[in-house]
Amino acid sequence: MSIPTTADYARSLDAQDPLAALRAHFVHADPELIYLDGNSLGRLPLAATAQAATLVHEQWGNRLIRGWNEGWFEAPERVGAKIARLIGADPDEVIVADSTSVNLFKLTVAALRNRAERSRILSDNLNFPSDMYVLQGVIDLLGNRHRLELLESSDAIHGPAEAITARLDEDVALLTLSHTVFKSGYVYDMAALNAAAHQAGALTLWDLSHSVGSVPLDLRASGADLAVGCCYKYLNGGPGAPAFLYVRRGLQEALINPIAGWMGQRDLFGFDLQYRPAPGIRRFLSGTPSVVSLSLIEPGVDLLLAAGMERLRAKSVQQSEYLIALWEQLLAPLGFTLNSPRDPAQRGSHVSLGHQFGLGIDLALIREFKVLPDFRPPDNLRLGIAPIYNSFGEIHQAVTALQRIVAEERYAPYMHEAPVVT
Ligand SMILES: *Cc1c(COP(=O)(O)O)cnc(C)c1O
Repeated sequence: MSIPTTADYARSLDAQDPLAALRAHFVHADPELIYLDGNSLGRLPLAATAQAATLVHEQWGNRLIRGWNEGWFEAPERVGAKIARLIGADPDEVIVADSTSVNLFKLTVAALRNRAERSRILSDNLNFPSDMYVLQGVIDLLGNRHRLELLESSDAIHGPAEAITARLDEDVALLTLSHTVFKSGYVYDMAALNAAAHQAGALTLWDLSHSVGSVPLDLRASGADLAVGCCYKYLNGGPGAPAFLYVRRGLQEALINPIAGWMGQRDLFGFDLQYRPAPGIRRFLSGTPSVVSLSLIEPGVDLLLAAGMERLRAKSVQQSEYLIALWEQLLAPLGFTLNSPRDPAQRGSHVSLGHQFGLGIDLALIREFKVLPDFRPPDNLRLGIAPIYNSFGEIHQAVTALQRIVAEERYAPYMHEAPVVT
């Protein structure tokens, strides 16, 4: 695919972009910064700054304990119901709580207890490390009666979907995967794997951290059992924002939250000393919700809902295709490899480029060109595209900066620095 590599062409794409105005709903403290890390920490929505002031000054400052009866108790469900609309779930199937890792723990334990006669957990070697640690910890906690089987990707880009399907049998309790893989951006066919898992009688648990707000999801139609996801990436919920969890309605009464706590108790203020789980999704709460950061998730989700996931996805695909076309013409000749799927149907909203001098290139990009991507060892530059605020012009500038850094060997002074978190 040959396209014009000029800045003028990027400007013309921006001029035709029906979603271009959404960018103004976010804070751009440094107007020159090209931010391509929305897949790690999304930008700050303007409305969140107002919401923060209301929460802190009016609600906490003025209403004090009365705030609990003026919306704080319901916040996990209220925000969960909005996220449900983004992921094709019903409002009473999603709740906001804890971190993604903790939610994964809760739902993994619940799933394994529900399939007590089975002993295997299937996943892949592209999954997020924290997810691996949680699974290993759960296996240890439950007395090492389970085995974690990781199917291997053949190219470190595409998920081993066929190998997974082939390993599903009557001994598999749980299939758990990142729906969009954090390094390569590969996206699994959720419906196909749910169907295969169910055929074998296994439950499915999806980590949607890199999918929610970036690719359209339909948990209901795809038959997903369980899911968790992160609110500080494409949802723009703020650093350390609480995560969400999804439990298919038909499963809710059958599962037990291993972190039983008073927020998940049937009669919250009965102060009964015997735990009885609340009906429905609330039983997956444990302790008191983080009201302030939880409420700050809402403005970002509102923006995504107003824009519509189908339209955002269309722009995201157009932008990643544009980036890859530029890579093909300008960067591949300089030794950059494409470490993401070539087929947009199998790709989320970030594009990974590899280069033998990856770390030095990353640091030169940040320090000399004000482009903020992120870097995942050993050689992956991840360029996160958040169509809700990124422009085609920014993508063009990032690619031409990468071209200059390698052509002019500007990575060289940085090659021996320790990796930084970006
Ligand atoms: C970002 C991310 C997480 C984050 O987990 P925390 O508990 O918030 O640290 C989990 N899983 C995946 C796949 C992620 O990309």
